[in-house]
Amino acid sequence: MLDLFDDNDDIHKPTISEDELSDEQVLIELKKIKEELKDQVVVLGHHYQQDDVINFADITGDSLQLAREAAKLDKPYVIFCGVHFMAETADMLTSPSQKVILPDLRAGCSMADMAKRSEIDRAWSFMTKSTNAKIVPVTYINCAATLKAFVGDNGGAICTSSNAEKIIKWALGEGEKLLFFPDQHLGRNTCFKMGIPLEDMVIYNPHMLNGGLTAEQIDKAKVILWYGFCSVHQGFTPEQVKAIKEKDPSVTVIVHPECNFETTQAADDNGSTSYIIEKIEKAPAGSKFAVGTEINLVNRLAHKHSDKTIVSLSPYQCLCTTMYRVRPRWLLASFRAIKENKPINIISVPEDIARSSLKALDRMLAIK
Ligand code: SF4
Repeated sequence: MLDLFDDNDDIHKPTISEDELSDEQVLIELKKIKEELKDQVVVLGHHYQQDDVINFADITGDSLQLAREAAKLDKPYVIFCGVHFMAETADMLTSPSQKVILPDLRAGCSMADMAKRSEIDRAWSFMTKSTNAKIVPVTYINCAATLKAFVGDNGGAICTSSNAEKIIKWALGEGEKLLFFPDQHLGRNTCFKMGIPLEDMVIYNPHMLNGGLTAEQIDKAKVILWYGFCSVHQGFTPEQVKAIKEKDPSVTVIVHPECNFETTQAADDNGSTSYIIEKIEKAPAGSKFAVGTEINLVNRLAHKHSDKTIVSLSPYQCLCTTMYRVRPRWLLASFRAIKENKPINIISVPEDIARSSLKALDRMLAIK
C-alpha cells in the first residue's frame, strides 16, 4: 500500500519537470487544457489550497460541501485539490461512473493519520470490556474511510466542525458514553460548550497500553477523546490571543475549534471554516479580525474584504503543508493524463468500506 507521507522522489516525481515547463508556462497550459476538457472535468478546491490552485477551481468549499457538490454533477472526472480523506469521501458520494483524482498522492492529513483502523479496533475492544454502558462512536470527517466504516458498523455517525454539537448530542442520546476521534480538540471544545465538564472527559492515547487509561476511568468517563490533533491549528496559543488583545482590544479573535481548549476559551469566538467566512463577510466595514485557522484562507479573506482588517492570529506561518503539496504542476499532470485517456492518481474506496462508511454519513445527514 502506498505510504502517503513517503518522500521517495522516484515514486512521486512530478511528470512535468521544471526543465520542460516553467511555473508560468504551467499556468498557461492549465488554462488551455481546462477549457478543452471542461465537459469532462470538474476541479474542486478546498479553502486551504494556495491561490494558484484555487484560481483553477470550479467549486471551492470545505470537504463535505465539495464532495456533495461533485456528486450533483455529471462530469466523469473530479479532480479534488485537497487531501486524501477528502478525495475518499468524494469517491463514496459520486456515482460509480465518476473517477476522483487527487493531483498529489502524498497530500494526506496529519490529523487523519493519527487514528488507524487497527488502533481503533484495539481501543474499542478494551473500552467495551471496561464498561457495561453503551458507547457511541463519532468520527470527525477528517479520517480515513476505514474509520468511517468502523463508525458505520458500530451504530455511530460522522460529524463535521459545523455540526459536531448536534451529532454529539444525538450520540449521547443514543448511548451513555461518547468515543470521539480523531481530533481531541474539536471533541473537547464541543462537549465543553454543551455543558459537559472537563472532569467527565478522558484522553485515549493509542501509543500507550490501553490508551493510558484504566477500566475504571473508562467506566467513569462520559466522553473518551482520541489523542489526535491538527498540527496547523494546534499552533495557535492563548498567549497570541492575549498579545493581540493587549495591542488592540477592538480586534475580534475568532478561531477554528480544532485549536486547543485554552486558545478557544481565550478567543472571542470559534466556529467551523464556513462559520468564520460568514462571520467576516457579514461584519461591517472597518471591523478587525485576528483569525486562528490556515493561512491561505486567512490571506484570501483579507484580500477579499479589503474594507476590513483581517490578520492571522499567529505571527508564524500556519500553513497546512500536506494541502500545499497540491501544486499547479501536478494539477496539469492530472489534466494531461485525462486527455491521453490514461487518468492517474485515482482514489477508489473498496465497496465494503464505502458501504459501511455511508451508513455513518447517512446517519449524520438524517440527524436533525
Ligand atoms: S489543516 Fe489540519 S486537519 Fe486540515 S488537512 Fe491540514 S493537517 Fe489535516
